[in-house]
Amino acid sequence: RMVEAKAAASKDDLRSPICCILGHVDTGKTKLLDKIRQTNVQEGEAGGITQQIGATYFPVDAIRTKTAVMFKEGAGAKLGKHEDFDYKIPGLLVIDTPGHESFTNLRSRGSSLCNIAILVVDIMHGLEPQTLESIRLLRDRKTPFIVALNKIDRLFDWKATPDNAFRDSLAKQKTSVQREFETRTQKVITEFAEQGLNAVLYYDNKNFARNVSLVPTSAITGEGVPDMIMLLVRLTQERMSDRLMYLSELECTVLEVKVIEGLGTTIDVVLSNGVLREGDRIVVCGLNGPIVTQVRALLTPQPLRELRVKSAYVHHKEIKAAMGVKISAPELEKAIAGSHLLVVGPDDDEEVLKEEVMGELTSLVNSVDKTERGVCVQASTLGSLEALLDFLKSSKIPVSGIGIGPVHKKDIMRASTMVEKAKEFAVLLCFDVTIDREVEKLAEDMGVRIFKADIIYHLFDAFTAYTAEITEAKRRDAAPQAVWPCRLRILRAFAKRDPIILGVDIIDGTLRVGTPLCVVKKDPQTGKTDIIDLGKITSLEINHKTMDVIKKSQQGAGVAVKIEHAAYQTSKLFGRHFDENDEVISHITRASIDVLKSTFKADVTTEEWVLIKNLKPRLGIP
Ligand code: GDP
Repeated sequence: RMVEAKAAASKDDLRSPICCILGHVDTGKTKLLDKIRQTNVQEGEAGGITQQIGATYFPVDAIRTKTAVMFKEGAGAKLGKHEDFDYKIPGLLVIDTPGHESFTNLRSRGSSLCNIAILVVDIMHGLEPQTLESIRLLRDRKTPFIVALNKIDRLFDWKATPDNAFRDSLAKQKTSVQREFETRTQKVITEFAEQGLNAVLYYDNKNFARNVSLVPTSAITGEGVPDMIMLLVRLTQERMSDRLMYLSELECTVLEVKVIEGLGTTIDVVLSNGVLREGDRIVVCGLNGPIVTQVRALLTPQPLRELRVKSAYVHHKEIKAAMGVKISAPELEKAIAGSHLLVVGPDDDEEVLKEEVMGELTSLVNSVDKTERGVCVQASTLGSLEALLDFLKSSKIPVSGIGIGPVHKKDIMRASTMVEKAKEFAVLLCFDVTIDREVEKLAEDMGVRIFKADIIYHLFDAFTAYTAEITEAKRRDAAPQAVWPCRLRILRAFAKRDPIILGVDIIDGTLRVGTPLCVVKKDPQTGKTDIIDLGKITSLEINHKTMDVIKKSQQGAGVAVKIEHAAYQTSKLFGRHFDENDEVISHITRASIDVLKSTFKADVTTEEWVLIKNLKPRLGIP
């Protein structure tokens, strides 16, 4: 009752939910935006739809017109009479730049300002790489979303009824078309299930909290678009708290930093709550520290009709949420997109606000576990940096340095400190940023690898492939130093010297080509041990078959080992320097153990470590 009273008292103070569109490239995000923006030409009126900076505002009247078809017989919506339906939201603010940049930047104190998102999926293609990335972002930020299953007009033989309710259109199709629709939808549902999401056609969705709704649409024919808008209305007004619908404390985020002729550097912001005024003293996060400045102008685009007007912008004395606005003010050159914007009120301590605004960047920097060894990252905005760091954290890739904005020489220098420490981390992962040719050249000279991508997990894939490559190279280089432990009993000697060829039993461990073998003898008088090096295994046979490796479990009768000594070693003779009473073992050393530990750790079994431990005292290794 209180809420009703308040609503009645201050309808003017209602604010609109904010909606973002995400999805893979070419799924139809832009086209879908165009379609919902398109107004009824016959009526010759824009219906109050207004173009803002980076956003489009749909007032409830426009929404009402666009969803009228949902109340017709055949739409299947069972919403009652149109005139009785209560549209509670004052309108909807749709962010115009589709994709993850705006979504990731629409943030405040770590939470998303996007109240609901549309994830566009091409019904002919199903889930694609950027769809998965979008799903991850939406999940990370706990943003409710619906799925537009777009391009239904491309189903073979689809007969279009422009701007119709989806179920009415589907009912009019031939059985073969309906069947194709079902098969493709089912396939998409399965793909969502693989991502751990329960997707259902929106009209079958009995639990909006648990299931993701699929809305079939065509951005070309407009079919399903009324369904989509109706669903947005219902979800926002049924599931958004009342608090969100009222104007309150200022909440404003920088989406883009842009240089505009005649205005200098401006910031495009989304005012998601509260009021902004010309002349306000504002604080935003900057590359080199907090920026405090004064709003010179609050601008929105000039309506298309007003072509006679010289300026491209309308000036405002005051702007209320939710709204996309361009702010012109001095000293915005170093502002960071994704930053939170604060207004200095009469009772505010400017220093506190500065700290608060920088807090997001510092807390991001601090959220990185400071490691001595790790990659450097560079992102265009606070939002994308946050998304990238989240991802690296969950992929357990350590980070040693962070940068925002274009890559400079100092960023390369920072990454280059890893070249000596850990070559695989002498890497700069760049998300959505530009790099000069000159800076790239410097990286090359310094031995820093740069990976650029605008999909986070492409960066991850490239980095993972690179580390695998480095590990492989390391293993190749280290292989001659690695000694695998074994103990052999001599059964007979096929050849006694140069080369020595022995028939053996593997008592323990594994035989490998390349392993140096020795016999350890103890002088009975002095108690001194003498290591007799026989040479390295140069070939192995089991039942006359040549092998590189023979495990203990593999041996049948007849393991033959050929042993050759290096030029610097003296040749040993079976029967004189050693005989069948001697046990032959791998000649491991401190250094060879270290190589196994550092480079082949994953390949050494527990039994082999135990064997190494047992061999150590015999070879005099502490
Ligand atoms: P975006 O990259 O997601 O913004 O995709 P666009 O909106 O630019 O669309 C990519 C291409 O798909 C364009 O050629 C569009 O005309 C086409 N397209 C978008 N939506 C539809 C649709 O519903 N049906 C058909 N047939 N084509 C579509």
